[in-house]
Amino acid sequence: MQYIAEKIIVWHKSSGRHDLPWQKTQDPYRIWISEIMLQQTQVSSVIPYFKKFIKEFPTVDKLASADEDLVMRHWSGLGYYRRAKFILQTAKIIVDSYQSKFPINVDELINLPGIGKSTAGAICAFAFGGIEPIMDANVKRVFCRFYGIREWSGKAKTQKYLWNLAHENLPSKDIKIYTQALMDLGATICKGRQPDCLNCPLQRKCESFKLNLCQVIPAKKPKKTIPTKQVNVLIVEVNDQILLKKRREASVWEGLWSLPEIQEFSYIEKWLQDLWGATPFNLVKQGQHLAIFSHYKLQINFNYIVLTERINKNTPRDFLWVNRAELSNAGIPTPVKRLLRDI
Ligand code: SF4
Repeated sequence: MQYIAEKIIVWHKSSGRHDLPWQKTQDPYRIWISEIMLQQTQVSSVIPYFKKFIKEFPTVDKLASADEDLVMRHWSGLGYYRRAKFILQTAKIIVDSYQSKFPINVDELINLPGIGKSTAGAICAFAFGGIEPIMDANVKRVFCRFYGIREWSGKAKTQKYLWNLAHENLPSKDIKIYTQALMDLGATICKGRQPDCLNCPLQRKCESFKLNLCQVIPAKKPKKTIPTKQVNVLIVEVNDQILLKKRREASVWEGLWSLPEIQEFSYIEKWLQDLWGATPFNLVKQGQHLAIFSHYKLQINFNYIVLTERINKNTPRDFLWVNRAELSNAGIPTPVKRLLRDI
């Protein structure tokens, strides 16, 4: 067996994680949900979401027939909402085209929405015992440090090299333990800031340890200044209820409930007029709220208005009144929840 596999499989028995909720199953559905949630999100944050999600949607059939709003509500707070849309799309495909059974090979899995090569590898390994590699952020860090790779791992050439190494290091047996061990080693020993090299099973042959490069490797992504986008929103309140609008357009918040947007605040009267006819209101507050995403900042300019009369007309399509007390349960993006909490 290869050095890395041999060492980390032994290490995992005594020091790896054995009680994560998705480790107690070989059900590809649960493994898939956990892998999607774990993309960009830490294990400790994922655990409560995973448990709640599986309780509500215990099978792929249950998920495939679920209302998108309900799925979004269970995802609300995890961020990267495209993942939730993808899992709903994928669940429907699996039910309709695969008779509710997950494909068992990487080539078919990567054709499903939201499933990349690494996630497909993890599903194959954990659910079906397939000898397939993974390459998530933790694993990249371990390989980069172990082999002393100084280039940024996002470069196409480096990625290709890393995948080759991942293939070369695959063991011929114990693939589940090996895969989990790689993830655990990256998360608990070969950590981003302070790798615990003295307790690492790979220390003897690790290039970064030998050459004291742990603080330099993995190389950081070359810096780009991230742009700031702006949006004007209205917080419309009456009788302790807030008006929300469904986001239909393709964006990171597609499918979620958010605050209605307005081109300019001088149009508020006209905007209300178009919805319900003449609608008197008081302007309570104006302000800004900054939300920071991985690729840009979003400056949310808001006007908070309170309608002075109850509205007796129908709520137009795609709008919804939600009681303040129930806002935390609605499928609302976290920055909007924070804004509503803070005003
Ligand atoms: S010896 Fe240190 S740098 Fe090398 S793999 Fe182990 S924890 Fe990471």
